Amino acid sequence: MSRFASRRNKLRRLFGKAKIDGLMATNFTNVTYLTGFTGDDSYLVVDSEGEVVVSDPRYTTQLGEECPDVATHIRPPGTSMLAAVKKTLKARKVRRLGIEGQSMTVGLRDTLAEALPGVELVTTDGLVEQLREVKDKDEIAQIRDAIHYAQKGFGVFRAQLRPDRSEKEMADELEYAMRQFGARDRAFASIVAAGPRAALPHAVTTTSPIGQSDFVLIDWGASDGLYRSDLTRLLVTSKISPKLKKVYGVVLEAQLAAIEAIRPGVVAGDVDAVARNLIAKAGFGRYFGHGLGHGIGLDIHEGPRLAKGSTTVLQPGMVVTVEPGIYLPGWGGVRIEDDVLVTRTGHEVLTDLPKSLEEAVVG
Ligand code: ZN
Ligand code: ZN
Repeated sequence: MSRFASRRNKLRRLFGKAKIDGLMATNFTNVTYLTGFTGDDSYLVVDSEGEVVVSDPRYTTQLGEECPDVATHIRPPGTSMLAAVKKTLKARKVRRLGIEGQSMTVGLRDTLAEALPGVELVTTDGLVEQLREVKDKDEIAQIRDAIHYAQKGFGVFRAQLRPDRSEKEMADELEYAMRQFGARDRAFASIVAAGPRAALPHAVTTTSPIGQSDFVLIDWGASDGLYRSDLTRLLVTSKISPKLKKVYGVVLEAQLAAIEAIRPGVVAGDVDAVARNLIAKAGFGRYFGHGLGHGIGLDIHEGPRLAKGSTTVLQPGMVVTVEPGIYLPGWGGVRIEDDVLVTRTGHEVLTDLPKSLEEAVVG
């Protein structure tokens, strides 16, 4: 059985609890996860008897190549997606159809309900996403590749960093380097934020020069085509100021302690608390305004969330980022981010770029 077929079987085992006898996946990433098909604009219906991808003629060949074991309903040109879905569902015995509340539009839900009076639409929340949280060997290998490209690219970035170059120029350089090393793409729009701009956790890269700022924060990742990596490092472009030394030390200590806490059976919110408490104890509690980390995989942000209140219990195969930060408006911000695999006995840090402050000094 293909790994996609076994994922679909795992999904079927969730139907009882969700009180559905079929699911229509409208989240294209979930369709990819369940079939191997990487195109979009296609929905997947899974029920107890089988599965069918509803797509259009642009994808006929690709579907045959990527998921030959899945039945397809290719809607002819001029036929709406709604009509195709209706036809597909009429031919099946689904009475309680799960729909993905996070991705189906209200408009589609309404028209579908009207078109299929005999089918009850049941809103589900994160059924496939829940399966995606635990990665198999193949997925972990692809994440390792995505990390490899990101780290190689960072080496080039570091070597090319000059004060007269702009944040955007440097981000472009980084992304080009990752592709040259084999990445299919960047995992998300890279953040290169110099000095005070690093105080914005999601800073937009500007065309202003890196300049004489003391440090620059880089948050980036690569994609091998499907799976993604996500890292953050800080590079020091002048002398280490006492303030930077203090803030960086607190963030690094919090990050290392949180990573140490990662093992199967631990509640995700408790890992967040390890870092949060250390940062609060150092007096910076109010300057750490985001969660500690998130899962990575087909999406750059997916489950499980390492955040306050997150009740997910960590399991072997989960891959999460650990990225505490301290952001001081007007001065700058420090964040350190690594990707960590939960193993059967504890954890493995998949990223291995140096992160002591001394090693962050450029030139
Ligand atoms: Zn990141
Ligand atoms: Zn992240």
